[in-house]
Amino acid sequence: MTDAMFTLLIVEDDAGIRSVLRTLLESQRYRVVEAENAARGVIEARNHRPDLAIVDLGLPDRDGVALIREVRRFSPLPILVLSARTMEADKIAALDAGADDYVAKPFSAPELLARVRAGLRRNAQGGEQLPILRFGPISVDLHTRSTSGPEGAVHLTPLEYRVLDCLARHSGLIVTQAQLIREAWGPERAGDSRGLRSYIKMLRQKLEPDPRQPRYLLTEAGVGYRLRVDDELAK
Ligand code: CA
Repeated sequence: MTDAMFTLLIVEDDAGIRSVLRTLLESQRYRVVEAENAARGVIEARNHRPDLAIVDLGLPDRDGVALIREVRRFSPLPILVLSARTMEADKIAALDAGADDYVAKPFSAPELLARVRAGLRRNAQGGEQLPILRFGPISVDLHTRSTSGPEGAVHLTPLEYRVLDCLARHSGLIVTQAQLIREAWGPERAGDSRGLRSYIKMLRQKLEPDPRQPRYLLTEAGVGYRLRVDDELAK
């Protein structure tokens, strides 16, 4: 339940799905603005200055990816893609165009609402990282770069902190492999997803209660990673 009133824009040509989304979002006291095509979506994004947009990719006038690119020219608002397209390439194209996350249709209501909350949190923080991350009994302070658990201090390398920094700035949202590598290593290492995988594996061994079944550092197959925060686990 939200205390503040947030305005959410839905860009979706299927009236049935728009209506389901409206009912779901209004039950959480979000204000909802609808657009049935990409052109209308751009107009409503300008007029209403929504706090978050939910965008379908298969729109009648233009592709949703083109819409995302256009909205990104004038607004940093969080954009959640809601699409039946499940190919990794489609997800990566939408995320590269500036989307913050991707939810597949058919969607589950709790999952969609968790993504909406994560998107709104990203907006409220203005992209700032959360200062303290909790992995069950282990907590990571990203400001002081110190980590402690039940058995005392846990050592993380500077690079491991940079990977966590990047995930934390988008906590609850997908971060693509390319984005993580660019932000943690720098552009010259682009494409080194094997190196990234081994760092994620190390982080899981140090932080996850059960590294073989990660609860916090989640893999989004073929796309990237997601840091799940405790607010979502409680729901
Ligand atoms: Ca559609």
